[in-house]
Amino acid sequence: MTEYDVVVIGGGSAGLNTAINCSRAGLNVAVVEEHGKIGFPRHCSGLYSTRFLSLMPVRDEYYEHEVSGARFHPPSGKTIELARKERVAFVINRELLDGYLGKLTKEAGANVISNARVSDLSTEPGATCVTTDKGVLTTKLICGADGSNSFVRRKLGIEPPNKLHGIMAITSEQDYSDCVDLYFDNRLYPGFFAWKIPRGKTIEYGIAGEIGPNNVQNFNSFLAKFSVTKYELSSGVIPFGFQKSYADKILLVGDAAAQVKPLTGGGVIYGAICAQAAAQVFAEAVQKNRLDEKFLSRYQNLWRGRIGKGIARGLLIRKIYGGMPNSVIDASFALMNNNITKNIFENYGDMEFILERRPHQAVAE
Ligand SMILES: Cc1cc2nc3c(=O)[nH]c(=O)nc-3n(C[C@H](O)[C@H](O)[C@H](O)COP(=O)(O)OP(=O)(O)OC[C@H]3O[C@@H](n4cnc5c(N)ncnc54)[C@H](O)[C@@H]3O)c2cc1C
Repeated sequence: MTEYDVVVIGGGSAGLNTAINCSRAGLNVAVVEEHGKIGFPRHCSGLYSTRFLSLMPVRDEYYEHEVSGARFHPPSGKTIELARKERVAFVINRELLDGYLGKLTKEAGANVISNARVSDLSTEPGATCVTTDKGVLTTKLICGADGSNSFVRRKLGIEPPNKLHGIMAITSEQDYSDCVDLYFDNRLYPGFFAWKIPRGKTIEYGIAGEIGPNNVQNFNSFLAKFSVTKYELSSGVIPFGFQKSYADKILLVGDAAAQVKPLTGGGVIYGAICAQAAAQVFAEAVQKNRLDEKFLSRYQNLWRGRIGKGIARGLLIRKIYGGMPNSVIDASFALMNNNITKNIFENYGDMEFILERRPHQAVAE
């Protein structure tokens, strides 16, 4: 029976990026994905800052649109537009992107096993294995990249510090406008915001908030505001906050490790950055035959060194924002509504300009 170096559980972007990097480092890798088609079903807006270009392979067919800024709608209704002359973010078809990453994963030499749900795993000495619908895989190491409701994470008894419920509706209206619209109101969208994204041939309306019926009700009210009645619905849990991401023979990557921007709920770029760190540590662990928790803990330091500041700043801003009454939100946006802020954004702003600016290595085609 084949013994893999790494079995990656979950064929989303974080798992596939980890598998590509591990395979290219010479490891023998399998990816196990419960769905039949990589990338489906849809569970992401696919709005990524231009940093995306330095992290993912770029293909024309998965671009839907691009935007150059945002219109902020505070409770007062006094809209502020911050835009650059060039694009600051891409609207990407995430399903096609993941499908393409799946193709690159196979080309890199990994065995991609789809339609196979993982139901158990063991890290016992001499019997490290992953049990799937399609049989048992023997391996040295395991990567839990199985998303926000990660089985691997739960098996380790780890809980993400915070969770939001993101819901999105895509309609068949066309919208090629230049800005995303962000709606802030701590009574209507408590602790987060609602959004409207021009996707070219379609429009997306979305909201994120505390898990529960209120969030669904707030989402329905948001749709009613735009008289939206016909749409394609998707939703998912968004974990965020600092969380342990290693154990004996196991690393967690992507949403499974809550590697998500606390301010926007975006996890694809952080997941890709951490996938590189995970692959580096997996390769070192195999080379040195150090599969223990102590050795693997270097992964946590590595990814925190790359995205930790961004997460910490995001958590702080979220905490302050979450406690603001609408009157203070209005006053804060009023302060931003001046030529100095607009000039700074016009000349230097990117989608994450407050948080970080650090280049990373791309997953080459
Ligand atoms: C409404 C919404 C909008 C969002 N918009 C954005 C955005 O615009 N930009 C952004 O960067 N992020 C966005 N996110 C967050 C983003 O979707 C996640 O951060 C990202 O998908 C995480 O990637 P991942 O590979 O870690 O997990 P996933 O993409 O969830 O992949 C996990 C994979 O594991 C598989 N899996 C799970 N359990 C098992 C099992 N037991 N056996 C086998 N396979 C299994 C799943 O089928 C899935 O394919 C959004 C999230 C939501 C909910």
